[in-house]
Amino acid sequence: MAQPPFPAPELGEPYLLTPGPLTTSYEVKQAMLKDWGSWDDDFRAMTRDMRDRLLAMIGDGAETYDCVPIQGSGTYAVEAMLGTFVPKGGKVLVLANGAYGLRAAKTVEYLGRGLRLLDKGDYLPPRGDEVAAILAEDTGITHVLAIHCETSSGILNPIEEIAEATKAAGRTLLIDSMSAFGALPLDPLALNCAAFVSSANKCIEGVPGFGFVIVRKDVLAASKGNCHSLALDVYDQWATMEKTGQWRFTPPTHTVAAFIEALKMHEAEGGVDARGARYAKNRDVVVEGMRGLGFQTLLDDRWLSPIITTFFCPADPSFTFQGFYDAMKARGFIIYPGKLTVVDSFRIGCIGRMDHHVMTRVVVAAKEALADMGVASAEPPAAALEERNKLAA
Ligand SMILES: *Cc1c(COP(=O)(O)O)cnc(C)c1O
Repeated sequence: MAQPPFPAPELGEPYLLTPGPLTTSYEVKQAMLKDWGSWDDDFRAMTRDMRDRLLAMIGDGAETYDCVPIQGSGTYAVEAMLGTFVPKGGKVLVLANGAYGLRAAKTVEYLGRGLRLLDKGDYLPPRGDEVAAILAEDTGITHVLAIHCETSSGILNPIEEIAEATKAAGRTLLIDSMSAFGALPLDPLALNCAAFVSSANKCIEGVPGFGFVIVRKDVLAASKGNCHSLALDVYDQWATMEKTGQWRFTPPTHTVAAFIEALKMHEAEGGVDARGARYAKNRDVVVEGMRGLGFQTLLDDRWLSPIITTFFCPADPSFTFQGFYDAMKARGFIIYPGKLTVVDSFRIGCIGRMDHHVMTRVVVAAKEALADMGVASAEPPAAALEERNKLAA
């Protein structure tokens, strides 16, 4: 399928090399140049169309699952999923290897549900055999929460083996696929996944304003009365939407319009496979180019997602993140600070309306930025590499 053009953002805006909000297409922005009444038939039809298009993306599961949008950022959707589908006496095994896993664990604590945390630090994926061992030993665990792509490091977690271990132990699997859905295959039926969440402003390339829960219909039906929160009750949102076609409270009308345009463009590009291939190429070009400049990635190639890549900050004393950020911004690229707990790092996102030609320019800009700052070598501190090698061994 022919690739659509990737014009530079309008009005000389920089590219957002960030994991959402991200660079969106002109068509997506243009779709917001109109006002909709939330009660009107036109907007109700748009909501229905959006839910159907999202369900069509999960293939064979479309009949078994339903899609419920929730206002707010992605975190609201994660909290809505946990609060609605984990009953008050439930206990969740949270598989964490970065900031988003830890945020989910904190959410479980806020909700007053039982928590078991497997924290793998910044570098390592939770593995199926570890999950199996914990589930065998801790029989109180009812649910497992996995992060599909841990956006804080960019690690792509082994969701299949986690799903297999969860299913074998007869527990319920919930997935945060916020930064993966739309670019990486996710077949909830095959994974025996009860529910997963994603949001408007990640791989589908819409603008921020809501998230959505894709949930098995029987799990949804059994969840009535579970939720601690009215605004975040997925069951109640669904029940109202089924009855009236409306969102319970003010919907993000313009964001929905933009998202439908983004879904159409996703389909026109060739769906999940084509989107994932474009992002993977973006990653390959930026990783190869940055390594050519002397930078090193936090992760082994095996765990590098096509979503976002973490690079160590160079050891050279002339390097500062702020200096690098400013020099990149002056060249039209907004990069992202690192979110690691131990070593200094920065991140370059591969998602959004851009292709490998843009990524080639990112590498040129990085080279010029190093020269601006007088950084002779982009090599990270030896200690960072030693720690990485030790942990990854
Ligand atoms: C973006 C993201 C979230 C949600 O973050 P918000 O800032 O609330 O949108 C949750 N989990 C993961 C893995 C994410 O990438």
